[in-house]
Amino acid sequence: MKIRDILKSEKMSMSFEVFPPKTDSAFESVKTATEEIATLLPSFMSVTYGAGGGTSKYTLDIAKDIKQKHGVPTLAHLTCVSSTRQTVKQRIKDMHEAGIENVMALRGDLTPELEKSNRGDWDYRYATDLIYELKNSGYDFCIGGACYPEIHPESANQKEDIKHLKEKVDAGCEFLTTQMFFDNNLLYNFLYKIREAGITVPIVPGIMPITNANQVERAIKLSGSHMPQRFKSLVDKFGSNPEAMKQAGIAYATDQIIDLYANNITNVHVYSMNKPDIARRITENLSDILGSV
Ligand code: FAD
Repeated sequence: MKIRDILKSEKMSMSFEVFPPKTDSAFESVKTATEEIATLLPSFMSVTYGAGGGTSKYTLDIAKDIKQKHGVPTLAHLTCVSSTRQTVKQRIKDMHEAGIENVMALRGDLTPELEKSNRGDWDYRYATDLIYELKNSGYDFCIGGACYPEIHPESANQKEDIKHLKEKVDAGCEFLTTQMFFDNNLLYNFLYKIREAGITVPIVPGIMPITNANQVERAIKLSGSHMPQRFKSLVDKFGSNPEAMKQAGIAYATDQIIDLYANNITNVHVYSMNKPDIARRITENLSDILGSV
């Protein structure tokens, strides 16, 4: 099933993100965790490509497994900036042959080696280049892309960032998933600005449940997200008590999600980080809301 069709529904739904194993030996445990998350029957599940420390070679295996065994639609991520055109073309063919219908087209982060190299030598510079490649492949993928309510860290300003986002959508990106954020007002402000700029595709907010104090620093470093005082107080109070922190982090994420639904967002994407218990507890918290209009 194509995500563009899932996102047409007026019912409130939730999707989850998982990442592939870091090593070959971790494959089975990651597969078990992702399958457990799939039994919660989210609207779809995305499988990252090399992000979060996972290796890329298992993205398709995990995505295929979830779809075939649990009937949950999947979204396979693909990055381009550190790859050659030949590799990317092969990956696209592999995706088609694995029955993947939805692709998250990403640039990928710049490594220090790439930063030092000559940009003119790169086969792909931006996610938009990958979208053109997917569109020209002859396969009918539904294509998603990333967006940044608090601006992509490399952008000079939000106006520039939104201008390039519009180019990405015009190239064929059919929906956008956001970077994590912890203050919903930042998302509402962003939505206002992108709609004004003529970007009309569905926006899927990405929510990261922070369930241990160590995650906070990592999350800020990775995403550059603003941490509201309300969230900082919660970490100060419960950070040293793992179970209490977990409960508070799940409650905070649940609260964010309910507010998004109340503001007419129909599908929220949860960065579930291969943690079935967290995915389950959030799903349970929303049991009477999910599926309702
Ligand atoms: P782009 O859309 O190409 O944007 C990158 C920067 O270039 C932005 O500042 C943009 O404004 C600018 N730009 C775009 N076009 C132009 C242009 N024509 N001229 C000048 N500037 C331009 N990483 C992984 O490695 N694997 C994953 O699976 C993964 N999944 C992700 C999922 C989501 C929802 C998000 C938000 C991020 C994910 N990432 C992943 C991280 C992502 O790869 C990085 O954030 C990366 O730095 C940017 O990728 P992008 O696709 O947004 O890039």
